[in-house]
Amino acid sequence: MRKKIVAGNWKMNLTLAQGEQLINDILATGLKLTEGQEVVICTPFPYLTKAKALLKNYQGFYVGAQNCHSEKAGAYTGEVAAEMLKSIDVDYVILGHSERREYFQESNAMLAKKVDQALASGLKPIFCCGEPLEIRQAETQNAYVAKQLEESLYHLTEEQLKDVVIAYEPIWAIGTGLTASAAQAQDMHAFIRSQIAAKYGREAALRISILYGGSAKPGNAEELFACPDVDGGLIGGASLVAADFTAIVSKLG
Ligand code: PEP
Repeated sequence: MRKKIVAGNWKMNLTLAQGEQLINDILATGLKLTEGQEVVICTPFPYLTKAKALLKNYQGFYVGAQNCHSEKAGAYTGEVAAEMLKSIDVDYVILGHSERREYFQESNAMLAKKVDQALASGLKPIFCCGEPLEIRQAETQNAYVAKQLEESLYHLTEEQLKDVVIAYEPIWAIGTGLTASAAQAQDMHAFIRSQIAAKYGREAALRISILYGGSAKPGNAEELFACPDVDGGLIGGASLVAADFTAIVSKLG
């Protein structure tokens, strides 16, 4: 059975003390994960070690970074390599978030290299894909997402793909308060799974976890997570509020 995952993306928010408090508040709720469920807390780089220490004795709780560089090492001032993240016991890394694509010009080709670095270092990529509003309005979102998958993931072997999580995040829904309807999410998730099946076969498609992201909240998480091809969520704003985040996790079922 594929994993059910809720990942919180803190983005560039919180001080270390606030982040520590947030994790302690989440843990204090006594949230229990069942077999096959995971929570991934994706903090800014400087807090990863602390987050890992706080979560290490909690079954099913993992730590993720929000980016890594496309090269293994070298003269890239200010950048962080996948291997460095692994060396401090980071488990996951978000790659291809729409904010990285937009503000840091991350292309599908560059993301393919980042995915390679992450996997080579033993990190699990949470690979984000999703269309902007004008593409959704033109009803060409399937072709748009298919190209993102093809250009950033399809060079991987089936074995490598086992460590990849996909997050479908329609850009028009991120931080906007607009959520994709459960039907829109299910349609796209089923499409993504069918694309994976066409490239890697049915078993690989049934194994891969596909998360939904875009204004997910306690009030809509249950309906989204009830969709057969939605395997959890990548949560931005609501991951900064312990009660909201834990309420969303509890909707995993
Ligand atoms: C995100 O940034 O990945 C995200 C889904 O944000 P939000 O939940 O705030 O829309």
